[in-house]
Amino acid sequence: MKMITKKVFLVALATGFILASCNNEEETLIGPESDLNAVSAKASSNSIPQNIDGNLNWNLPGINSHEFKNNFNAVVPSECGDTPFRAVTSFYNDALINGFLGSWDGNPDAIDVILDDYFIINQIAAFDNINTDTFGASGEYTRYVNNRVRSLEKFWDMPDLISVRGQHTSTLEDLNVLRYVYENYSDATPEDINYLLGIAEHFNTTSDQIPENPFYASDGFATFSGIIVVGDGIVSMLAETGLDPKVVWSGILAHEWGHQIQFQNFGNWEYPIPAFINTPESTRMTELEADFLTAYYLTHKRGGTYNWKRVEDVLASFFNIGDCGFESPGHHGTPDQRLEAARQGYLLAANQKKKGQISSAQSVHDAFLSILPGVVGSDVADNEGNLQ
Ligand SMILES: [Zn+2]
Repeated sequence: MKMITKKVFLVALATGFILASCNNEEETLIGPESDLNAVSAKASSNSIPQNIDGNLNWNLPGINSHEFKNNFNAVVPSECGDTPFRAVTSFYNDALINGFLGSWDGNPDAIDVILDDYFIINQIAAFDNINTDTFGASGEYTRYVNNRVRSLEKFWDMPDLISVRGQHTSTLEDLNVLRYVYENYSDATPEDINYLLGIAEHFNTTSDQIPENPFYASDGFATFSGIIVVGDGIVSMLAETGLDPKVVWSGILAHEWGHQIQFQNFGNWEYPIPAFINTPESTRMTELEADFLTAYYLTHKRGGTYNWKRVEDVLASFFNIGDCGFESPGHHGTPDQRLEAARQGYLLAANQKKKGQISSAQSVHDAFLSILPGVVGSDVADNEGNLQ
C-alpha cells in the first residue's frame, strides 16, 4: 500500500451529488451509521446508503465529489433554487443510479466499487498522470486547452509551472488501470483485487452508464503541488445547459489558474483573514479572488479577449452550480457575490484596455482586496466579526 504523504491542498468545484433517484417518490435514505451488509438483494435505490466507504486509501482534502452528499438540502435560499445545471446533473445522477441498479445483483460490495472506488480511481489516475494528456472524451478539445494553457502561462508569466490534466470516463474502462490503483492504493489482497475487478468488468460490460456517466469525470480542482485537473464530464454537463464548451473550458481553467496564483503567493500575499484555513469566510475570500482573477484574464484584450457578456453568462452558470452552503467550510460565496467579484475583475481589465497593459499578479491581488468589502458587505471576517 502506498500512503499518500505529500501534502496537497485542493480547491474543488462543488458539483454535489445526490445519491437517490428522483424518480422514487418515497426516499428513505439510510444514514451513515448503517451497515452495508444490511443492503440485501431486494434493496432498491431507496436503500442505497448515502455514505459509502470504498476500498481505497486515498484522501484529498477539499475533494468531495465522490462523497455522494446532497449539498442542496442544507441551506436553500431563494437565489439557489433550480437552475439548468441542476436539471442536467439531476438527469445524470438518476441515470447513474438507475444504470447501477439495472446491472446490480444485490451484492453490497458492488456499491463500494462502482459508487465510490470508481470516483477515487479517476482522481488517482489524474494524479498519477494516467490518460491525462487529452481533453474532451475524444480529445476534441486538446488543442484548444493546450492553447489556453499557453495563453494563461504567458499572461500571468508562469511558464511551465502548472501541469494541466484531463480526466476521462474511458480511463475506468481499462481494467489494468483499476488493477494498478487497487494494488497501489488499497489493502486488498491479490485475491480481493481479482474479485473487485470481476465486479468492475460486470458493470462495465452490462451498463451503458458505467463508466460512461459524466459524473465519473467531473473533477475540477487545483492542488498546491501545481496540478490542475479538469474532467470532461464537468465541462460537458455545463455545456449541456446551453453554454459554449470552449468558454466553459476557458472559464474553469482560468479559475483554477487563479488558485495556482494564490498558491504561488501563499505566505506572501496579505489578506484580511488568513487564506486557506478552511473556514467559510476564508474559502469564500479565496474563491471570490479566483473569480476576480478569472474575469480579469478572460476579458483582457491580451488574455482571453472575450467580451463581458459572454463571460458573464458562463460564470453565472458556474456560480449557480449549487454552493449555497453558507456555513460549509468549503463555501465559495453566493452566486451574486461571485458574479460581482468577477464583474470587478472585468472592470479592472476594461480600464486598462487602451494601454493593453497586464497588471502583475500582485497588483491584481491588491485591486481585489480593495473591492472585497464591497462585494461581501462588511462581512469579510468571521461570524463574530473578528479579523483573525
Ligand atoms: Zn475555486
